[in-house]
Amino acid sequence: MMNTQLTLPFMINHTEKYYAKKKVISRTLSGTHSFTYKKIVKRMRSLASALESLGIEKGDRVGTFAWNHHRHLEAYFAVPSMGAVLHTINIRLSEEHLIYIINHAADKILLIDPDLLPLIERIQDRLQTVEAFVVMTDEAFLPESKLTSLYSYEALVQDADPTYEFREDLDENDPAGLCYTSATTGKPKGVLYTHRGIYLHSMALGMANTVGLSEADIAMPVVPMFHVNAWGIPFAAAWLGADQVLPGPSPTPQILASLIEENQVSITAGVPTIWLGLLKALEQGSYNMKSLRAVLCGGSAAPKGMIKAFESTYGIPFIHAYGMTETSPLATVSRLKSYQSDLSEADRLEFRSRQGMIVPGLELKVVNENGEVAADGEEMGEMLIRGPWIADQYYKDERTADAFRDGWLHTGDVVTIDEEGAVKIVDRTKDLIKSGGEWISSVDLENALMAHEAIYEAAVVAIPDPKWQERPIACVVLKENANVTKEEILAFLKTQFAKWWLPDEVLFLEEIPKTSVGKFLKMALRDQVKKQLAI
Ligand code: ADP
Repeated sequence: MMNTQLTLPFMINHTEKYYAKKKVISRTLSGTHSFTYKKIVKRMRSLASALESLGIEKGDRVGTFAWNHHRHLEAYFAVPSMGAVLHTINIRLSEEHLIYIINHAADKILLIDPDLLPLIERIQDRLQTVEAFVVMTDEAFLPESKLTSLYSYEALVQDADPTYEFREDLDENDPAGLCYTSATTGKPKGVLYTHRGIYLHSMALGMANTVGLSEADIAMPVVPMFHVNAWGIPFAAAWLGADQVLPGPSPTPQILASLIEENQVSITAGVPTIWLGLLKALEQGSYNMKSLRAVLCGGSAAPKGMIKAFESTYGIPFIHAYGMTETSPLATVSRLKSYQSDLSEADRLEFRSRQGMIVPGLELKVVNENGEVAADGEEMGEMLIRGPWIADQYYKDERTADAFRDGWLHTGDVVTIDEEGAVKIVDRTKDLIKSGGEWISSVDLENALMAHEAIYEAAVVAIPDPKWQERPIACVVLKENANVTKEEILAFLKTQFAKWWLPDEVLFLEEIPKTSVGKFLKMALRDQVKKQLAI
């Protein structure tokens, strides 16, 4: 067979040729705009030509510091298609981490949203490699700034060559993207994505067995484009000719609901915190969600109560999936097999709340100190994954050896695997609670707590215990105007868990500390709990 190269120029040329009339709806600071892919690809060509005249060469890193919008999408294809590397920078990182990753990646140019410019100005004198700052706006709106080498994106694009030819000499193993994990401990770690990896991952998103993204879809990635390439959706949607709705700066749940309704969004993707917010907006306002064929949820465990609320209350199909920065990210998807449709509603919900089966194209195994675990849904082990869109190292980082061994990515996630091959995340290795020599899953307890009608969010952490080594403490945030006592919560859990699993204490909090991408920040929570309990 022919060994043609799997590259981004190939993908975007296809979009331009066959899906020129399809649309990108983009919400920016100045309002919501609609563009055809014809126009967007032309602007991508201009952007690539502009970057070239600013001195960007093959292999150079171009950083983006931006929300989800059409200009960011343009950079997604323009930068790799001219041979450079798109480094999407998480706008919510601390200053120290931002300085670290921009210097570590050696970004030569930064493309920055106007409202985020002050963040870069504050750290500018510690950036060692950046030669130019491009503000993603018109010349007329270019903010006052003390930065030198400041350009307007629109002015650059207008003056550049819209017939620029994307490179045809790229190797599929050339780097195309770079993203750093949001690091709950230590410095962020960089993952380099190749053209081949992005191409194959995009194909995987189009499989009916996964999320079946297609031309017929109107896709709205809520997951930020600075976090694991918005789960690869902008790449795949453009290639497959799906319309895209990009929700722009700080979208509130109300804005998301309106965008879904106004643009007939068929598939959207984000972390559970986003969907909790949307559910609240749907409770309070009246929105038509009929166009949605799938809400894709990953990044943290989707509580059963949430799946049920979407499906039973609002008739919105919900898909639970799992992935990591290191896995591009799509790795497992929870879908019932056809012969599971006659299971009871409770069993179906139980299966659907698992993280699911490895997607076609990847391999998975679960191992503990005794070797591969039994597929009995009980024995726990660490999940290992390998395949063509899984990273094989961290970018210039000696921590590579911890996670990448024997040809497998060691995910650090402890799971069980059932006879259908579906995994269920029990915990991250570092969050498991060890009590009296036995493991307690914080995720199971959290799921159960979040199914309680008075509870909005719940996280469970371990505290040291002289007798049992560690004991669980539950932290709960109640729904507005809800009232429930610690005793009632414990009684509620008692019917579902062994006695020794029950939390020693239930703390009522205003909110649960979260990472920059909306996951529970267990380290900070543990500190808070220890302080509150005076340990
Ligand atoms: P970070 O390590 O910065 O949190 P990632 O976004 O790459 O970065 O997070 C990957 C981790 O998120 C996984 O290792 C896993 O612990 C967790 N995760 C992802 N999807 C799910 C899911 N569906 N259910 C439970 N945990 C998940």
